[in-house]
Amino acid sequence: MTLNLTDTHAHLYWDRFDEDRDAVIARCADFNVTRVLIPGTTVQTSLSAVKLAESHPNLFAAIGIHPTDALEWTDETKDALREIALSPRSDGFSRPSRNTKGLKPLLRRKIIAIGEIGLDYYWDRAPHDVQKSVLEEQLSLAEELKLPVVLHLREKGDATEGDCALDLLKTLKKWHASLRSSSNLLVKYPGVLHSFSGTREIAEEAIKLGFMIGVTGPITFKKMSQRREMIASIPLEKILIETDSPFLTPHPKRGKRNEPANVRFIAEKIAEIHGKETREIAAITTANAARLFNW
Ligand SMILES: [Zn+2]
Repeated sequence: MTLNLTDTHAHLYWDRFDEDRDAVIARCADFNVTRVLIPGTTVQTSLSAVKLAESHPNLFAAIGIHPTDALEWTDETKDALREIALSPRSDGFSRPSRNTKGLKPLLRRKIIAIGEIGLDYYWDRAPHDVQKSVLEEQLSLAEELKLPVVLHLREKGDATEGDCALDLLKTLKKWHASLRSSSNLLVKYPGVLHSFSGTREIAEEAIKLGFMIGVTGPITFKKMSQRREMIASIPLEKILIETDSPFLTPHPKRGKRNEPANVRFIAEKIAEIHGKETREIAAITTANAARLFNW
Protein backbone atom coordinates (compact mmCIF):
# COMPACT_ATOMS: atom_id res chain seq x y z
CA MET A 1 0.00 0.00 0.00
CA THR A 2 1.57 3.27 -1.08
CA LEU A 3 1.15 6.36 0.99
CA ASN A 4 -1.79 8.46 -0.21
CA LEU A 5 -2.38 11.69 1.70
CA THR A 6 -5.03 14.41 1.37
CA ASP A 7 -4.79 17.94 2.78
CA THR A 8 -8.34 19.26 3.16
CA HIS A 9 -7.36 22.82 4.11
CA ALA A 10 -4.62 24.97 2.57
CA HIS A 11 -4.79 28.67 1.65
CA LEU A 12 -2.36 28.40 -1.26
CA TYR A 13 -3.41 31.73 -2.81
CA TRP A 14 -1.94 33.64 0.17
CA ASP A 15 0.86 36.06 -0.80
CA ARG A 16 3.25 34.05 1.37
CA PHE A 17 3.28 31.52 -1.49
CA ASP A 18 3.80 34.08 -4.28
CA GLU A 19 7.54 33.45 -4.58
CA ASP A 20 7.48 29.66 -4.87
CA ARG A 21 3.87 28.47 -5.28
CA ASP A 22 4.72 26.04 -8.09
CA ALA A 23 7.47 24.44 -5.99
CA VAL A 24 5.06 24.09 -3.04
CA ILE A 25 2.53 22.37 -5.31
CA ALA A 26 5.24 20.15 -6.81
CA ARG A 27 6.30 19.06 -3.30
CA CYS A 28 2.76 17.71 -2.75
CA ALA A 29 3.54 14.97 -5.29
CA ASP A 30 6.98 14.35 -3.72
CA PHE A 31 5.29 13.67 -0.37
CA ASN A 32 2.31 11.69 -1.72
CA VAL A 33 -0.27 14.40 -1.13
CA THR A 34 -2.65 13.57 -3.95
CA ARG A 35 -5.44 16.05 -3.22
CA VAL A 36 -5.53 19.51 -1.65
CA LEU A 37 -8.63 21.56 -0.86
CA ILE A 38 -8.20 25.35 -1.06
CA PRO A 39 -10.90 27.26 0.82
CA GLY A 40 -11.70 30.91 0.11
CA THR A 41 -12.26 33.52 2.81
CA THR A 42 -13.71 36.40 0.73
CA VAL A 43 -15.21 36.68 -2.76
CA GLN A 44 -11.77 37.67 -4.04
CA THR A 45 -9.86 34.77 -2.45
CA SER A 46 -12.65 32.35 -3.44
CA LEU A 47 -11.99 33.35 -7.05
CA SER A 48 -8.25 32.84 -6.47
CA ALA A 49 -8.93 29.39 -5.00
CA VAL A 50 -11.00 28.41 -8.05
CA LYS A 51 -8.34 29.70 -10.43
CA LEU A 52 -5.67 27.61 -8.72
CA ALA A 53 -7.91 24.53 -8.68
CA GLU A 54 -8.58 24.92 -12.40
CA SER A 55 -4.89 25.03 -13.19
CA HIS A 56 -3.68 21.94 -11.26
CA PRO A 57 -5.23 18.46 -11.43
CA ASN A 58 -4.70 17.77 -7.69
CA LEU A 59 -6.18 21.01 -6.36
CA PHE A 60 -9.85 21.65 -5.53
CA ALA A 61 -11.65 24.75 -4.27
CA ALA A 62 -14.22 25.80 -1.69
CA ILE A 63 -15.88 29.21 -1.89
CA GLY A 64 -17.23 31.30 0.97
CA ILE A 65 -16.92 34.25 3.31
CA HIS A 66 -14.91 33.67 6.50
CA PRO A 67 -16.49 34.92 9.75
CA THR A 68 -13.64 37.43 10.26
CA ASP A 69 -14.70 38.93 6.91
CA ALA A 70 -18.43 38.83 7.70
CA LEU A 71 -18.70 42.61 7.32
CA GLU A 72 -17.88 42.15 3.62
CA TRP A 73 -21.29 40.49 3.20
CA THR A 74 -23.87 42.52 1.23
CA ASP A 75 -27.22 41.73 -0.40
CA GLU A 76 -25.30 40.73 -3.53
CA THR A 77 -22.74 38.35 -1.99
CA LYS A 78 -24.86 35.23 -2.07
CA ASP A 79 -25.59 35.77 -5.77
CA ALA A 80 -21.90 36.42 -6.41
CA LEU A 81 -20.91 33.12 -4.76
CA ARG A 82 -23.65 31.23 -6.62
CA GLU A 83 -22.49 32.74 -9.88
CA ILE A 84 -18.88 31.63 -9.22
CA ALA A 85 -20.14 28.09 -8.57
CA LEU A 86 -22.38 27.89 -11.62
CA SER A 87 -20.38 29.75 -14.25
CA PRO A 88 -18.34 27.77 -16.78
CA ARG A 89 -14.64 27.22 -16.34
CA SER A 90 -12.44 30.02 -17.56
CA ASP A 91 -10.63 27.64 -19.92
CA GLY A 92 -13.88 26.20 -21.29
CA PHE A 93 -13.05 22.69 -20.09
CA SER A 94 -16.01 20.72 -18.83
CA ARG A 95 -15.03 18.02 -16.38
CA PRO A 96 -17.25 14.96 -16.56
CA SER A 97 -18.99 14.42 -13.24
CA ARG A 98 -17.86 11.35 -11.34
CA ASN A 99 -20.83 11.91 -9.17
CA THR A 100 -22.11 8.78 -7.50
CA LYS A 101 -24.61 10.32 -5.11
CA GLY A 102 -26.71 12.05 -7.71
CA LEU A 103 -25.51 15.49 -6.67
CA LYS A 104 -25.61 18.26 -9.21
CA PRO A 105 -22.56 18.25 -11.50
CA LEU A 106 -20.98 21.34 -9.98
CA LEU A 107 -17.55 19.85 -10.33
CA ARG A 108 -16.80 21.61 -13.57
CA ARG A 109 -15.06 24.44 -11.72
CA LYS A 110 -13.68 21.96 -9.17
CA ILE A 111 -15.72 23.71 -6.49
CA ILE A 112 -16.53 20.94 -4.06
CA ALA A 113 -17.60 22.81 -0.90
CA ILE A 114 -18.85 26.06 0.61
CA GLY A 115 -16.18 27.41 2.96
CA GLU A 116 -14.64 28.49 4.93
CA ILE A 117 -17.61 29.79 6.82
CA GLY A 118 -18.49 29.76 10.51
CA LEU A 119 -18.14 31.81 13.69
CA ASP A 120 -15.06 33.52 15.15
CA TYR A 121 -15.36 35.01 18.65
CA TYR A 122 -11.56 35.24 19.01
CA TRP A 123 -10.94 38.13 16.60
CA ASP A 124 -14.55 39.27 16.97
CA ARG A 125 -14.34 41.37 13.82
CA ALA A 126 -18.13 41.46 13.34
CA PRO A 127 -21.05 41.44 15.80
CA HIS A 128 -22.19 37.90 16.58
CA ASP A 129 -25.65 38.39 15.06
CA VAL A 130 -24.01 39.51 11.80
CA GLN A 131 -21.67 36.48 11.84
CA LYS A 132 -24.63 34.18 12.45
CA SER A 133 -26.74 35.61 9.65
CA VAL A 134 -23.80 35.44 7.18
CA LEU A 135 -23.29 31.82 8.23
CA GLU A 136 -26.98 30.99 7.80
CA GLU A 137 -27.08 32.57 4.33
CA GLN A 138 -24.14 30.42 3.25
CA LEU A 139 -25.58 27.26 4.79
CA SER A 140 -28.70 27.87 2.74
CA LEU A 141 -26.55 28.32 -0.38
CA ALA A 142 -24.78 25.03 0.40
CA GLU A 143 -28.18 23.35 0.77
CA GLU A 144 -29.31 24.77 -2.56
CA LEU A 145 -26.10 23.75 -4.40
CA LYS A 146 -25.84 20.46 -2.49
CA LEU A 147 -22.26 21.19 -1.50
CA PRO A 148 -20.88 20.24 1.95
CA VAL A 149 -19.53 23.00 4.22
CA VAL A 150 -16.06 23.71 5.66
CA LEU A 151 -16.64 25.26 9.08
CA HIS A 152 -14.38 27.55 11.09
CA LEU A 153 -14.94 27.87 14.83
CA ARG A 154 -12.74 29.84 17.25
CA GLU A 155 -13.63 30.69 20.84
CA LYS A 156 -12.91 33.91 22.70
CA GLY A 157 -9.37 33.71 24.11
CA ASP A 158 -8.85 30.37 22.32
CA ALA A 159 -10.80 28.55 25.04
CA THR A 160 -11.70 24.91 24.36
CA GLU A 161 -15.35 25.61 25.13
CA GLY A 162 -17.69 28.58 25.06
CA ASP A 163 -20.48 30.42 23.27
CA CYS A 164 -18.91 30.07 19.83
CA ALA A 165 -19.23 26.27 19.73
CA LEU A 166 -22.68 26.41 21.32
CA ASP A 167 -23.94 29.00 18.82
CA LEU A 168 -22.44 27.08 15.91
CA LEU A 169 -23.94 23.79 17.03
CA LYS A 170 -27.35 25.38 17.46
CA THR A 171 -27.20 26.78 13.92
CA LEU A 172 -25.98 23.46 12.50
CA LYS A 173 -28.75 21.50 14.21
CA LYS A 174 -31.36 23.78 12.69
CA TRP A 175 -29.73 23.47 9.26
CA HIS A 176 -29.45 19.72 9.55
CA ALA A 177 -33.14 19.45 10.44
CA SER A 178 -33.95 21.39 7.30
CA LEU A 179 -31.72 19.07 5.22
CA ARG A 180 -33.52 16.10 6.72
CA SER A 181 -37.00 17.41 6.10
CA SER A 182 -36.22 18.18 2.45
CA SER A 183 -34.35 14.84 2.02
CA ASN A 184 -31.29 16.78 0.86
CA LEU A 185 -28.45 14.46 -0.14
CA LEU A 186 -26.09 16.38 2.16
CA VAL A 187 -27.82 15.01 5.23
CA LYS A 188 -25.39 12.10 5.62
CA TYR A 189 -22.15 14.01 5.01
CA PRO A 190 -22.92 17.70 5.61
CA GLY A 191 -19.37 18.98 6.19
CA VAL A 192 -16.30 19.28 8.39
CA LEU A 193 -15.42 21.18 11.56
CA HIS A 194 -12.08 22.46 10.34
CA SER A 195 -9.07 22.52 12.73
CA PHE A 196 -11.30 21.50 15.59
CA SER A 197 -10.00 22.62 18.99
CA GLY A 198 -13.08 22.12 21.15
CA THR A 199 -14.26 19.47 23.57
CA ARG A 200 -15.04 15.84 23.00
CA GLU A 201 -18.71 16.54 23.78
CA ILE A 202 -19.03 19.14 21.02
CA ALA A 203 -17.21 16.83 18.59
CA GLU A 204 -19.60 14.00 19.44
CA GLU A 205 -22.65 16.21 18.87
CA ALA A 206 -21.28 17.30 15.49
CA ILE A 207 -20.48 13.70 14.53
CA LYS A 208 -24.06 12.71 15.40
CA LEU A 209 -25.17 15.19 12.72
CA GLY A 210 -22.77 13.55 10.25
CA PHE A 211 -19.93 16.10 10.41
CA MET A 212 -16.28 15.14 10.19
CA ILE A 213 -13.55 16.54 12.46
CA GLY A 214 -10.55 18.31 10.90
CA VAL A 215 -7.21 17.77 12.65
CA THR A 216 -4.31 20.22 12.25
CA GLY A 217 -0.68 20.75 13.33
CA PRO A 218 -1.21 21.67 17.00
CA ILE A 219 -1.80 17.99 17.86
CA THR A 220 1.95 17.58 17.33
CA PHE A 221 2.78 20.23 19.97
CA LYS A 222 3.99 19.04 23.36
CA LYS A 223 1.49 21.07 25.37
CA MET A 224 -1.58 19.93 23.43
CA SER A 225 -2.23 16.71 25.36
CA GLN A 226 -5.88 17.65 25.87
CA ARG A 227 -6.40 17.90 22.13
CA ARG A 228 -4.67 14.55 21.58
CA GLU A 229 -7.03 12.97 24.14
CA MET A 230 -10.01 14.46 22.32
CA ILE A 231 -8.72 13.11 18.98
CA ALA A 232 -8.17 9.67 20.53
CA SER A 233 -11.93 9.53 21.17
CA ILE A 234 -12.94 10.34 17.58
CA PRO A 235 -13.68 7.34 15.30
CA LEU A 236 -11.12 7.23 12.47
CA GLU A 237 -13.80 7.28 9.78
CA LYS A 238 -14.74 10.78 10.99
CA ILE A 239 -11.25 12.34 10.85
CA LEU A 240 -9.80 14.57 8.13
CA ILE A 241 -6.22 15.84 8.20
CA GLU A 242 -5.42 19.40 7.20
CA THR A 243 -2.50 21.81 7.30
CA ASP A 244 -4.32 25.19 7.27
CA SER A 245 -1.26 26.37 5.32
CA PRO A 246 0.46 28.80 5.68
CA PHE A 247 -0.51 28.65 9.38
CA LEU A 248 -0.36 26.03 12.19
CA THR A 249 2.91 24.41 11.09
CA PRO A 250 3.34 21.03 12.81
CA HIS A 251 6.39 19.89 14.77
CA PRO A 252 9.23 19.47 13.62
CA LYS A 253 8.74 22.30 11.09
CA ARG A 254 7.20 24.64 13.65
CA GLY A 255 8.24 28.27 13.17
CA LYS A 256 8.40 27.94 9.39
CA ARG A 257 5.65 28.61 6.85
CA ASN A 258 3.31 25.63 6.59
CA GLU A 259 2.58 23.79 3.32
CA PRO A 260 0.52 20.72 2.26
CA ALA A 261 3.60 18.42 2.17
CA ASN A 262 3.66 18.75 5.99
CA VAL A 263 0.31 16.98 6.34
CA ARG A 264 2.31 13.76 6.84
CA PHE A 265 3.37 14.89 10.33
CA ILE A 266 -0.29 15.09 11.35
CA ALA A 267 -0.96 11.62 9.92
CA GLU A 268 2.03 10.27 11.87
CA LYS A 269 0.75 11.76 15.14
CA ILE A 270 -2.77 10.39 14.63
CA ALA A 271 -1.24 6.98 13.85
CA GLU A 272 0.62 7.17 17.18
CA ILE A 273 -2.52 8.26 19.08
CA HIS A 274 -4.74 5.59 17.52
CA GLY A 275 -2.09 2.85 17.49
CA LYS A 276 -2.11 2.39 13.70
CA GLU A 277 0.33 2.63 10.80
CA THR A 278 0.74 6.04 9.15
CA ARG A 279 -0.21 4.49 5.79
CA GLU A 280 -3.47 3.28 7.25
CA ILE A 281 -4.30 6.74 8.63
CA ALA A 282 -3.43 8.28 5.26
CA ALA A 283 -5.68 5.81 3.42
CA ILE A 284 -8.59 6.23 5.84
CA THR A 285 -8.50 10.05 5.91
CA THR A 286 -8.09 10.20 2.13
CA ALA A 287 -11.15 7.94 1.75
CA ASN A 288 -13.05 10.09 4.28
CA ALA A 289 -12.30 13.22 2.25
CA ALA A 290 -13.43 11.50 -0.95
CA ARG A 291 -16.68 10.47 0.73
CA LEU A 292 -17.37 13.96 2.03
CA PHE A 293 -16.32 16.00 -1.01
CA ASN A 294 -17.30 13.46 -3.65
CA TRP A 295 -14.19 14.26 -5.71
ZN1 LIG B 1 -8.57 28.34 6.91
